[in-house]
Amino acid sequence: MEPILLLTHTELDGSLAKPALEALSAALALGGELTVGLVGGAVEPGANLAAGAGAGRILAVTGEAFTQPRYATDAVAAEALARAAGATLMLAPATARWSRALPGVAHRLGGHIDTHATGLAAREGSLELTRWFYRQRMEAVLTRATRPWLILLDPGCCAPWSGTAAAAVQVENVAVEAPQPRTSVSGVIAPKADEQTIRPDAKLLFVAGAGWTKKQTDGAVHVDEAQHLILGFLRAAHASLGGSKSLVDLSGEGQAVLPFMTHLNQVGQTGSTPRHPKGLSTCCHGEEPHVVGWRFVTERRAVNLDPNCGWARGKADVVYVADAFAVVRELNKLLA
Ligand SMILES: Cc1cc2nc3c(=O)[nH]c(=O)nc-3n(C[C@H](O)[C@H](O)[C@H](O)COP(=O)(O)OP(=O)(O)OC[C@H]3O[C@@H](n4cnc5c(N)ncnc54)[C@H](O)[C@@H]3O)c2cc1C
Repeated sequence: MEPILLLTHTELDGSLAKPALEALSAALALGGELTVGLVGGAVEPGANLAAGAGAGRILAVTGEAFTQPRYATDAVAAEALARAAGATLMLAPATARWSRALPGVAHRLGGHIDTHATGLAAREGSLELTRWFYRQRMEAVLTRATRPWLILLDPGCCAPWSGTAAAAVQVENVAVEAPQPRTSVSGVIAPKADEQTIRPDAKLLFVAGAGWTKKQTDGAVHVDEAQHLILGFLRAAHASLGGSKSLVDLSGEGQAVLPFMTHLNQVGQTGSTPRHPKGLSTCCHGEEPHVVGWRFVTERRAVNLDPNCGWARGKADVVYVADAFAVVRELNKLLA
């Protein structure tokens, strides 16, 4: 197996986040000689972890300019690490930061990049990469002769490395002159953790469909109660929220619907394909363009008033023919 450079950026405290630890396990499993290249304001804890994992060389680009994610500084740092390592094969976690910077780095190095890798394997000395095409309908295994070859590994596809860190590791600092930035980060505005409805690490995906906003058996809509029930369930079950296209489109049209539901929540052919061990669909019909987004959800259950809904036609493991308002009301009582 050819030598590998694992590119990671560190967190503010210098540690490695889960996607970096996943990429570290993936790189180790390939068996080649491993160099780790770190970028960040502080790198010591990350370097100690990399050494504990068995990295032969640890290179770093550090300094205030490399603390914040920014294309110009990240790209120049990754390029310098690649050149210092003399790497032909580079692996990086597909974080927002690397997904933005590394395609440009591949161009600068005269190489090639593949994104959304979901698996890597070394076969007869060469690397095989697995990824999905056409909205997760076809899985392909690729190899490439072009070098340097950069690969972005999707998070959630490998177990994170969990060994013991080494102590006081020797890091080779790679000197990089940071370009004059056009962007300065003045702060971060983010919703509170419990207001964040998309939680890729959640054990459960809770999907809300347009039925939550439709007239119910009493002839009235109950959007306020729907909102209260859904948010109550998400908080209690620490679930991630998905939506059907019909529901997120309603929100986009500015109608009085669920205000926390955006296109980012949409699951399906023209939405996302999240990976959760379990999924619970509510008030959603389970039409094919929606259900293709459930490809990686292992155990599927649905609540629908209609015993003939799409879920009942072999798309879910269990279908509860029931009123989702009543079911979620009861679930929230039990979870409280
Ligand atoms: C090219 C293309 C791409 C598409 N891509 C996507 C995509 O990415 N994602 C996606 O979701 N869709 C997609 N669609 C649309 C998809 O085909 C469906 O129209 C959409 O998923 C329907 O959303 P829904 O099930 O929430 O709404 P509806 O079809 O309106 O169904 C609402 C359901 O709620 C149930 N219901 C109502 N009240 C209750 C209650 N109290 N308790 C229980 N059940 C109740 C009803 O029985 C009904 O089954 C796409 C379509 C096309 C043509």
